[in-house]
Amino acid sequence: MSQALPAFPVPESLTNLVGQFQGRCPVCKLPAYINGVFQGSEMVHGVLCTRCGSYKIQFPFAAYFKPEVLSPRQIATISGYIRENPGVQISTEEDVNFLCELSSPTVSEKASKLLAALARLHPKPGVILETTLSFIDNQMTHFLSMHGEKFPSDPAADRAALALFPCLSTSWTCDEAELRFVLVEYLSKGVGLLDILNEGGHGQPIQFQISPKGWDHLQSSGVANSATGFVAMWFSGEMVPVWEKAFYPAIKAAGYSPLRIDKKEHNNKIDDEIMASIRGSRFIVADFTGERGGVYFEAGYAGGLGKPVIWTVRKDWLNKLHFDTRQFNHITWSEDNLAGFAEALRLRIEATIGKGSFR
Ligand SMILES: [Zn+2]
Repeated sequence: MSQALPAFPVPESLTNLVGQFQGRCPVCKLPAYINGVFQGSEMVHGVLCTRCGSYKIQFPFAAYFKPEVLSPRQIATISGYIRENPGVQISTEEDVNFLCELSSPTVSEKASKLLAALARLHPKPGVILETTLSFIDNQMTHFLSMHGEKFPSDPAADRAALALFPCLSTSWTCDEAELRFVLVEYLSKGVGLLDILNEGGHGQPIQFQISPKGWDHLQSSGVANSATGFVAMWFSGEMVPVWEKAFYPAIKAAGYSPLRIDKKEHNNKIDDEIMASIRGSRFIVADFTGERGGVYFEAGYAGGLGKPVIWTVRKDWLNKLHFDTRQFNHITWSEDNLAGFAEALRLRIEATIGKGSFR
């Protein structure tokens, strides 16, 4: 049998920090690399959590996520949300409430998110993947039973955490039993989108691959191999130069094919063509300048399909945004620096989705 690859490979940027995951993630309480930075006069913590991924949190709000108040289900949901929206900023009480009130996706949505992530990480069909499920609960209990805000430096524990916890947040699941259900009982035995090659157990990793039916499913839901970056934006004359000098060249430079549906909004109606285009895209860029209802809808629709959404807005509109989306890490821009905006957007696309191969 060919060599199995880790289903969730640890990026080099995180491997380099092994031994330094001594902080406790304010959300899930598992090991995280935390550094404090000042944004103006505010102390902001940049958190790289072994489970949740990356987010920023303003100092006083770190204390809001109390383990005695949050259920394991809420923690799983917030952690899943952060994993799907890297760079989220938690800077007001409303942001905290928004996260605590998120509802958990359905089993089939969790399975789709997990399958889509596996296909993004391993776009080549036929590769055999493996992951160890059997130590997740043990390892979580180990960290949660330790006292204090800081963990001792422990490179082996960091490696274990980085290998075990990302699959929980990727699938929005709480623990080993739920993850195993989604992966084995649902995705493989239930709907046949994965083939299990070796069930593992006794500390051995489980080995599997995406089945032909799984690739079909990904294709029809537009997740696999799409090279399209959809732009949801305000169709007003003043936005034309922004499309031409920033959105279009940035998406192209990141290796994707830029798409916008140039239509007048009639009664804010989102038509079938737009929904089909979003389904067929790899990611969407949503620009909130002008606060168009259609853009909120398109971003929400794409997010619900598990597609990465990149948030942008003209600087002077940032404070007018609806609070549900304000905690996203928006790239702000101004008309006098569209080249700088294009560069920031290209970098964000490459960091979030990876470099595409579209030329
Ligand atoms: Zn966390």
